[in-house]
Amino acid sequence: MRRKIVAGNWKMNKTLSKGKQLVEEILSSTDASSDVLKIIAPPFIHLAAIADMVRLRTDFAVAAQDCHHINAGAYTGEVSAEMIASTGAEFVIIGHSERRLNAVESNELLAQKVNIALVNNLSPIFCIGENSEERNANIHLEAVRKQIKEGLFHLSAADFSRVIIAYEPVWAIGTGLTATSHQAQGVQNFIRTEINKKYGKEISENCSILYGGSCNAQNAQELFSCIDIDGGLIGGASLKSPDFLAIINSF
Ligand code: PEP
Repeated sequence: MRRKIVAGNWKMNKTLSKGKQLVEEILSSTDASSDVLKIIAPPFIHLAAIADMVRLRTDFAVAAQDCHHINAGAYTGEVSAEMIASTGAEFVIIGHSERRLNAVESNELLAQKVNIALVNNLSPIFCIGENSEERNANIHLEAVRKQIKEGLFHLSAADFSRVIIAYEPVWAIGTGLTATSHQAQGVQNFIRTEINKKYGKEISENCSILYGGSCNAQNAQELFSCIDIDGGLIGGASLKSPDFLAIINSF
């Protein structure tokens, strides 16, 4: 059975005290027996503290927003998957479009990050999505296929089963332009079909595929009701507890 997931990507936001306050508000307003997994992705520097806060809640987990592709060495300022796992984090976002763009991360590099994450017992939340030019040229499915093929399809079936996919059309991230539920469901069904072709029905049916891109309290319910949308990767709306809680309660 695939899991329902709401993941909050804080990006470069929140001091430690404000981040802890936000998590406290979310923890105290959610039911520990809920079947929705809540994943918090704070900046690296807050990982250990936030992981400690959610340690006793099986419906919560913590993710890093990136990891380096090598385990240790002379890479000033970088953070390895091994270090992330040592904080209690269980997930790592890999291939977010802001990193693909700003840090010029290629599919080849991202495939290495996926590998090192898995070796260190972190589940990758692997982000894919077309930009506006690709969508306007109607080549968005090809763009998405290339990203999963080059970033993930080298994995064994056992390793692939540990991956979560986040479909995030780049034109919808932080823009207030959400994909319609029809558009998001169409691409997410295509992604699941590609996984089915590569790994078979059981693995494709069990893979959680999240939608991300201006998902908010107003549109989450319609998006999450689609058959191939198993939850959301949330940016802006994860920074305020009422908004994030409303999204969690949208299932
Ligand atoms: C994101 O950065 O992954 C994201 C989906 O951002 P937003 O919700 O702000 O569009």
